[in-house]
Amino acid sequence: MIQFMPARNNGKIATTGVKRIEQHKDRWSAYGATAGILGISEKLSPNNLRRFEMFRDYDDAFLEEISPDVTIAKWKPNAVLFEEGAYLDLAFFIVQGSVEIYLQKMRNRQPQRRDKKPKNGSEIVFLSSMDFNLPAGSGMTLGAGEIFGEIGAMNGWPQSVTARTATECLLAQIRVPALRRMKRKSKTLKERLDKVYRERSLFAQLKTTALLQKCDDAFIEALAKRVELVSCDPNEVIATEGEAADALYLVRSGFLKLSQKLGEGEAAVSYLSKGMTLGEVELLLQDASNWTCSAASVEFTELVKISREDLRALLKKYSHVQKRLLESAVARIKETGFNRKHLGQAEFIQTSLEKGLMQGNSILMIDLDVCTRCDDCVRGCADTHEGRPRFVREGDKYENFLIAKSCYHCHDPVCLVGCPTGAIHRAQVGEVVEIVDDLCIGCQACANNCPYDAIVMHETGEVWPNNMLPEVLRGKERLLASKCDLCYKTNHGPACVNNCPHGCAVRVGSVAEFQQLLAKKR
Ligand code: SF4
Ligand code: SF4
Ligand code: SF4
Repeated sequence: MIQFMPARNNGKIATTGVKRIEQHKDRWSAYGATAGILGISEKLSPNNLRRFEMFRDYDDAFLEEISPDVTIAKWKPNAVLFEEGAYLDLAFFIVQGSVEIYLQKMRNRQPQRRDKKPKNGSEIVFLSSMDFNLPAGSGMTLGAGEIFGEIGAMNGWPQSVTARTATECLLAQIRVPALRRMKRKSKTLKERLDKVYRERSLFAQLKTTALLQKCDDAFIEALAKRVELVSCDPNEVIATEGEAADALYLVRSGFLKLSQKLGEGEAAVSYLSKGMTLGEVELLLQDASNWTCSAASVEFTELVKISREDLRALLKKYSHVQKRLLESAVARIKETGFNRKHLGQAEFIQTSLEKGLMQGNSILMIDLDVCTRCDDCVRGCADTHEGRPRFVREGDKYENFLIAKSCYHCHDPVCLVGCPTGAIHRAQVGEVVEIVDDLCIGCQACANNCPYDAIVMHETGEVWPNNMLPEVLRGKERLLASKCDLCYKTNHGPACVNNCPHGCAVRVGSVAEFQQLLAKKR
């Protein structure tokens, strides 16, 4: 029997389970939505979990391990579960009831389509994060047994739709680490999630890939049915130099590191990010040949695998695809050849991968040859942020540049995962990731999650009051997470850069820009 803790008890907060209830409630309300949880389960035993169909494939030991990351929640009707643009670290399985999925802007009768095309007489909206592609002006109703939210959650993308309960619902809420493990362990679940992805998103993702943009819909639809979806853990080997090349791989999310043997060891010769392909060199230029380099995932990475036969059909029908792949193959050969010869370049790629520079949309670099250590950059930052600087002038060095410990405003901001209140979020301005002070409860989850030490916990000198929720914080010292917000609320741009009297603080938007900066100095 599953015990549900009520969200409220005669108007008062229940004395047990409060923390989880309030964290869920805060999370939804932080997105501007109304909390609608009627009850939420305590930690579930393997037997209780197995009552729900999606957990039946697993043994007791496994279910015991994942159970802290699973909750069964009862939601009232018309409750917003999440809104467009929200970053989630969990997916929802509908156990009972139905959920409406829709585009907020359309519901408000102000459609703002990013891209559209006619399909079967109706319009389809292409959404950047590819969770759902909805017929324009309408929504979709999901029922028992369906899953949603998982594509955005597992890829680190914002949700592309708003989800609202249409009836009272019982939802299994599974955090990403547990979902990844479940997917890895159960072929059935992997097939099920892949099927959902194919039905809801794959067509649009292929269609919006630069390589396939000009291909007709019927061809892409047929291709979408045949491609294989490959999910990789960090450091998983996709291709081994010298072994037979089997397919063309398209990166859906994450990064692949390409390396070649060099003497006794190996050198990083390139990396591939979302939208890039692996295999064109081997399948086009040297048909039936072996991999010219090894490829491994840098982090959790999702790939689309196009077989040699499907690639042949694609090339036969579309000369522009062949032209594009040939250009890409030639560029790759030049790049890997150059990087192999210039060990400094291989080292640069390795550093970029290790330090996460390829994640960055805005990385603060300081030219140490020119910098006088006056700290005007730090003071400029502090002056713009109530006396509290948002970065420290320290970090790793590469050649004569300091890679400052200031937020990179990552493509995949892992700091957002697990914030119980939604305080840290992507601002609606470019790629800016910001923290809303009033919502931050100082739990440090974001600081622990950020791989680049870009979040600092500040002491505020205050103590949480006795009526604070969650209860565990009562009487404890109040901490506040702080990070760079790119000075986006000012009209002068990054103060750290503008305040440097010697012009040696710069922000770069990509690894390529950093490379140009290095080249200028050499
Ligand atoms: S805080 Fe860290 S993980 Fe988050 S966007 Fe900044 S650098 Fe990336
Ligand atoms: S410390 Fe970070 S994760 Fe915790 S509430 Fe504040 S912003 Fe969110
Ligand atoms: S961009 Fe603004 S907030 Fe970010 S480090 Fe520079 S001065 Fe500070």
